[in-house]
Amino acid sequence: MNAIKEYDVIICGGGTSGCSAAISAARAGANTLLIERIGSLGGQMNISGPPGFAYAHFFNPLGEQDIGGIMEETYNRLYKSGHALPHIKTPIRLKAGYTFSYIDPDWWGLMIFEMMTENNVNLLLHSLVVDVLKEGNIVKGVVVENANGRVEIPGKIVIDCTGEGDIAARAGAPFEMASREEIQPHTVSFTVDGVDWDKLCKYIRENPEDIEWLAFSSTSSHEEVMEVFKNLTDITELGEVQGFFSLRDKALAKGDWHKFSGVGFFLMPREGGRILAHLQHSSQVPNVLPTDAWDLTRGEIECRRQILIAWRFFKNYMPGFENAYITRVCPEMRIREGRRIMGDYKLTTDDVRMARKFDDVIGKSHFPSGGHHLATVDTLGMHDKSARDRKERSPEGGGSYDLPYRILVPQKVENMLVAGKMVSTDRDPYLRFLQQTMVTGQAAGVAAAICATRNITPRDLEKDVSELQRILTAQGAILKGTH
Ligand SMILES: Cc1cc2nc3c(=O)[nH]c(=O)nc-3n(C[C@H](O)[C@H](O)[C@H](O)COP(=O)(O)OP(=O)(O)OC[C@H]3O[C@@H](n4cnc5c(N)ncnc54)[C@H](O)[C@@H]3O)c2cc1C
Repeated sequence: MNAIKEYDVIICGGGTSGCSAAISAARAGANTLLIERIGSLGGQMNISGPPGFAYAHFFNPLGEQDIGGIMEETYNRLYKSGHALPHIKTPIRLKAGYTFSYIDPDWWGLMIFEMMTENNVNLLLHSLVVDVLKEGNIVKGVVVENANGRVEIPGKIVIDCTGEGDIAARAGAPFEMASREEIQPHTVSFTVDGVDWDKLCKYIRENPEDIEWLAFSSTSSHEEVMEVFKNLTDITELGEVQGFFSLRDKALAKGDWHKFSGVGFFLMPREGGRILAHLQHSSQVPNVLPTDAWDLTRGEIECRRQILIAWRFFKNYMPGFENAYITRVCPEMRIREGRRIMGDYKLTTDDVRMARKFDDVIGKSHFPSGGHHLATVDTLGMHDKSARDRKERSPEGGGSYDLPYRILVPQKVENMLVAGKMVSTDRDPYLRFLQQTMVTGQAAGVAAAICATRNITPRDLEKDVSELQRILTAQGAILKGTH
């Protein structure tokens, strides 16, 4: 094995959480190493699917901004360079807390390399973290497999940002995960160009009852939603388009649609105002555990079978898609649900409902709890159910809930933090949305930098988070000031 110098902070996984953690740790003065299994950064957002309405939810339904920091900074950079759509805050969206801003994920993937260089983050790509170095329950670094062989890399603090919590689990941290029977279905997304948007908008104007607008059904009246469809001239106003029930039913009757999902797609902006359609629900494979490579393999095969069915449907049934063509099938399945690493606090459904505030706040969210796994309840009808329940699952009064630092500190191991969708929550308030992963990533990065500098453990830091909060605030994170 080759021995390498010790880093202050080692981050495993270069998805949205890992990139955010790396930048914030480096900005807080840590000698930081970000290790990623493949050659690109951005993780699920741009390796396995564009963000859809990803950069949503900067504002809660009261119109209060609750997400800032590195998340907002990346959006602003892309917007200024013409690679993001303006932030859409129509009244109907504000009421639902569903304002959003589309970005071009490929440009995000390019820009993030610039940000790594600007912030002096050390990168090690094409390297799979396979284990941790450990003395007792104290993590001392990681073990990596790459073209160089098996490499040990010492580090003062290790942050697991692998999405599925592989490294924290290896280190001995306890976790929870839905069973194979219950886990949410996973998806291979694909992107298409050449859509005749005018033709599609005309169909929506003339058939408004055929369309559904998931996020707004519980906060706006049916008539208000129909008004938007009836007057639609610009597809970007909708953002995500779902339903097409009559077309789907016609196809189902002829065996031209599979039964695993409803029909819909998201938008993806390209330079010069061009809009692509991104199909991120057209394949959905249930009963696949992300902790089992045989399951994952079966899922990849099944997703591609479903994509072929879905694509035939879009070409033959969907107005405007007649001359469309696939520009990218994402190279790997996007995992909807995986491990949640149990930390010193577990965020609950009640915390979300009550818009609970915590003394050790490191960020905020207002996304409802529990919408994620409805897809497994009734795949064809999931959007109806999700929309119906959304209000009951959202923070009362339209406010935001705090994310406490302790959800990043795994039990039973020292010198380790976790960030991204694996952080410590009940199943319902799973914090998997992109903005949430960047918020927890940024906080974990700063916390790790402080611990490395002061030679304390992340658990020690729980006793006094004032420095963490001060640095996060200085980095633009929003910790206070919302209902
Ligand atoms: C179909 C689908 C659609 C979605 N749509 C949206 C949406 O519209 N909006 C939204 O906000 N969210 C959406 N999400 C959720 C969101 O995309 C993910 O939850 C989020 O990207 C997870 O970020 P992360 O940083 O936690 O993990 P990931 O993005 O999974 O990043 C983990 C990184 O770690 C790397 N890695 C893994 N293991 C190792 C290892 N051992 N060694 C080194 N590197 C490793 C991986 O290659 C990857 O780059 C969607 C999810 C799915 C499944």
